[in-house]
Amino acid sequence: MTDRYLVEPDMDFVKEVVGLGGDTLKKCFQCATCSVVCPISPDTKPFPRKEMIAASWGLKDKLVGNGDIWLCHNCGDCSTMCPRGAKPGDVLGAIRSYAITEYAVPKALGKAVNDPKKLPVLLAVPAVLFALLALITVVFSGVMTSIFDVIGLEWSHGGHDVLAHANFISTWFVDLVFIPLTGWVVVIFALGLKRFIRDIHDNAVLEGKTDKKEIDIKEFLQAFVRVLPTIIKHEKFSECSENKDRTTAHLMVLYGFIGLFIVTNIFFFVLYIFHIPGPYSQLNPVKWLANVAGISLIIGSILMIKSRLAKKDQSSTYKDWFLIGLVLALGLTGMLTEMTRLAGTAFLTYLLYYIHLVCVFCLFAYLPFSKLAHLVYRTVAMTYAEYGKRT
Ligand code: SF4
Ligand code: SF4
Repeated sequence: MTDRYLVEPDMDFVKEVVGLGGDTLKKCFQCATCSVVCPISPDTKPFPRKEMIAASWGLKDKLVGNGDIWLCHNCGDCSTMCPRGAKPGDVLGAIRSYAITEYAVPKALGKAVNDPKKLPVLLAVPAVLFALLALITVVFSGVMTSIFDVIGLEWSHGGHDVLAHANFISTWFVDLVFIPLTGWVVVIFALGLKRFIRDIHDNAVLEGKTDKKEIDIKEFLQAFVRVLPTIIKHEKFSECSENKDRTTAHLMVLYGFIGLFIVTNIFFFVLYIFHIPGPYSQLNPVKWLANVAGISLIIGSILMIKSRLAKKDQSSTYKDWFLIGLVLALGLTGMLTEMTRLAGTAFLTYLLYYIHLVCVFCLFAYLPFSKLAHLVYRTVAMTYAEYGKRT
């Protein structure tokens, strides 16, 4: 039976989607070629044609809380085959961008992260914060050195008598910034995901994709475990033909982040449990992992930039460039601060370390509002699809 809806178009939503890169949505004449060529779309209630119709009608509620928009990996196959030159892949990408800002609170911050005019303010927050922390570290170190001089002892800050990042900004200060920041990111995601899961489930019930009234948490977690290998291997990307080359870049960035996450946690324990401060030897295997992960991040982001510049027919928005630029800056400053430290150039080391901390802060603090949030929302949507056997 055909679905029946009471249509309440939200024209502001249409305008926003157009502004976020979905400017071709009005070209669609609903031929369904896109749904047929999409290698990922399921047989029942396939996407992206139904999303194109809903988008042109301004049916915000049917789209923002629709798990299917996250199953699309923006491979571009449908955009290439569309006889009308509409770009369903880009339209779905724009709807996803909208959905991220819809679920993340505070909304004002979400809008700021996606507004290029607000970039100087967003950068200024960590820039001022870390400048202050550097000032406090240096002044405190100077005061302690003077006091110890008076009493005839030598002041040693955590055993650092070599060129070390902690001499510029205390590791304590860095952790005092990033530990609460991690908590903030977790809380924002938890609040957003609570609404997101409820919405995709309500939509699935409404559209007859599932007959379960409530989500079974145990089954949902089992579905998460089953879907994890697909995400880790980026298997869905490999099913596409148009943008297959993006798989390598995405995997390099993903594994780069995973590697750096492992390294950060190991060094955190080494410092606070075993009380061994850095810098650590380059012969340390954890350092090897850090270096490989850093290089992977740099190469992956450069490949992403190359791919986007080469594909002139696919839209790249400020959100895309903000994230790729940040990832590249993060990788470059991380590696360069290490290299300049080994070369013994204090000024460059500390300057690069400072920029690196600003980049890490931006990546973390703005994560729930930036395009990187897709990692979380897509994982949940893919889990829900697995849970609901929507394959
Ligand atoms: S987006 Fe293009 S391929 Fe898809 S239904 Fe519309 S006109 Fe057809
Ligand atoms: S961009 Fe690729 S995955 Fe997304 S709807 Fe189009 S064909 Fe399917």
